[in-house]
Amino acid sequence: SYGFESVSGREEKQARVNEVFHRVAERYDLMNDLMSGGLHRVWKNAAVAWLSPPRRAGWRFLDVAGGTGDVAFRIVEASGGTAEGTVLDINGSMLAVGRERADRRDLARNLRFVEGNAESLDLPDASFDAYTIAFGIRNVPRIDLALSEAFRVLKPGGRFLCLEFSEVDLPVLDKLYDAWSFGAIPRIGEIVAKDRESYSYLVESIRRFPNQESFASAIRRAGFERVTYRNLTGGIAAIHSGWKL
Ligand code: SAM
Repeated sequence: SYGFESVSGREEKQARVNEVFHRVAERYDLMNDLMSGGLHRVWKNAAVAWLSPPRRAGWRFLDVAGGTGDVAFRIVEASGGTAEGTVLDINGSMLAVGRERADRRDLARNLRFVEGNAESLDLPDASFDAYTIAFGIRNVPRIDLALSEAFRVLKPGGRFLCLEFSEVDLPVLDKLYDAWSFGAIPRIGEIVAKDRESYSYLVESIRRFPNQESFASAIRRAGFERVTYRNLTGGIAAIHSGWKL
C-alpha cells in the first residue's frame, strides 16, 4: 500500500494538504496557468475527450478532489449540458470558489458541490456512471482506499478516469522539467501567492507519486478491469482509465 503507515503521519499529510489548498484557493486557477504554462487546460481537455460523456439525460458523474470545478465544467459542457455532476472535495475554500464559478457560468443546475473525503465517500454504492479525479489522488494519504471507494460508488459498467502528474519518459524533457519544478515553481509560488513552501510541497508530492505502471497496478488491485493509460506531454501527466465490469 502507498502512503504513510502511521495514523499521525497520515493525518499530518492531510492537514498539510488542507492548509495548502485553503491558502491557495483564491489564486488556484491563476497559479495552475502560470505553473503549467496553460498545459493543464490541454490535459484536462484530453481527459474529458477520452471520457467522452454521452449527451444523455441522467448520466451522472462524480468528480473527486474537484476543487474549483474546472474538470466538472468541462464534462458538463462536453455532454451538451446534460450531465449531472457531484463535485466533491475535502476543502470548503476550494468548493466555495467552484460554486461561484458555476453560478457565473450558469452551470449550477448541473452541479452540486459536496464536502467529503476521497478515502470514505458518504455516497451510496453503484450510483455513478463515471468517477473522475484530476490532480487529486496524489494528495490523498491512502490511495488504495480512495480507489476502492471509487469502485464501490460506480455502477457496473462505470468508468474510472484519473488525471495526474506522472513520470517523464523523454531524456531531455526530464532535465527541463526538473529545472522547472525545483526552480521556477517555488519561485512563482513565492512571487504570486507569497507562499514558496506550499509550492515546494506540491512539487515533492508529484515526485513521490507512483509511476504509470505501478499506479495502473494499484487500480487493478481495486477491482477495475481493462486498465490502460495515456501519457501527456512526454509523461509529465498521464490519464489512467479503468472499468467496473
Ligand atoms: N481537480 C481540480 C483541478 O484539477 O483543477 C483540483 C485539483 S487540486 C491540485 C487538489 C484537490 O484535492 C484540492 O482541492 C484538495 O482540497 C483536494 N483533496 C486533497 N485531499 C483530499 C481528500 N482526501 N479527499 C478529497 N479531496 C482532497
